[in-house]
Amino acid sequence: MGLMDGKRGLIMGLANDKSIAWGIAKAVAAEGAELAFSYQGDALLKRVGPLAEQLGSNLMIPCDVSDEASLDALFKKLEEEWGTLDFVVHAIGFSDKSELRGRYVETSPANFEMTMNISVYSFTAVCQRAEKMMNEGGSLLTLTYYGAEKVMPHYNVMGVAKAALEASVMYLAEDLGRDGIRVNAISAGTIKTLAASGIGDFRYILKWNENNSPLRRTVTQEEVGKSALYLLSDLGSAVTGEVHHVDAGYHVIGMKNPEAPDM
Ligand code: NAD
Repeated sequence: MGLMDGKRGLIMGLANDKSIAWGIAKAVAAEGAELAFSYQGDALLKRVGPLAEQLGSNLMIPCDVSDEASLDALFKKLEEEWGTLDFVVHAIGFSDKSELRGRYVETSPANFEMTMNISVYSFTAVCQRAEKMMNEGGSLLTLTYYGAEKVMPHYNVMGVAKAALEASVMYLAEDLGRDGIRVNAISAGTIKTLAASGIGDFRYILKWNENNSPLRRTVTQEEVGKSALYLLSDLGSAVTGEVHHVDAGYHVIGMKNPEAPDM
């Protein structure tokens, strides 16, 4: 008996086997979940396809979340194939790389709007469509980062977007809660992925976390996957509106570990 037996879920944001979405997909599939994957564009299909197949899924649907018609087509296809849906993982974020360095104050209006649309509004747009397919409750999960709470070097407009994403988790939890649908976020520690490599000095940030988090290490995709399993399964049945940190404890630290090597 698996924790996710009989549950069907959509995984959004799988780019490759380094993606956080991959850690989560593996964890829920191992517990019996049936999965569909959305991917951003044809260029990604050659990576996403074989990964999805490894987990026994042949339901791969293109979706650019900045395009309403593309979102509609994704959920139409899911409705045709499955009828109902139990969970969604939204592991998507994007900003212009050239503004993930330097000063936040320089953010351009066009990039501000795009970052907010792809990294924040898309989760609301997904919830809007997914709730219609969740007849017997459900669980929706997004990914956020500590840069929403405190200033992190170079995170800039993404930090502002993650703060808005975390606020939207609360409002969505209230709206969907009466239908037994839960909405949560995982605030993941730094992990080397495609998206993360766009952030200035990312290696330094990774090392800093390793030296200064209570567990004196960074976290893995698989560890985020295990916590996601809790939030997506009945183990988390009374948890909603929550931002759960999976960051080796980094968020509780107030200053540099005095024993950490100078960097
Ligand atoms: P990743 O590059 O593997 O995944 C990002 C995904 O976003 C990609 O699959 C990409 O195709 C997708 N995406 C971007 N724009 C899109 C669009 N318009 N339409 C559809 N998909 C789009 O990187 P990741 O680190 O696994 O990122 C997943 C989530 O985790 C993001 O929200 C990120 O901010 C968050 N996160 C990452 C870290 C980290 O250190 N890596 C830490 C905390 C939170």
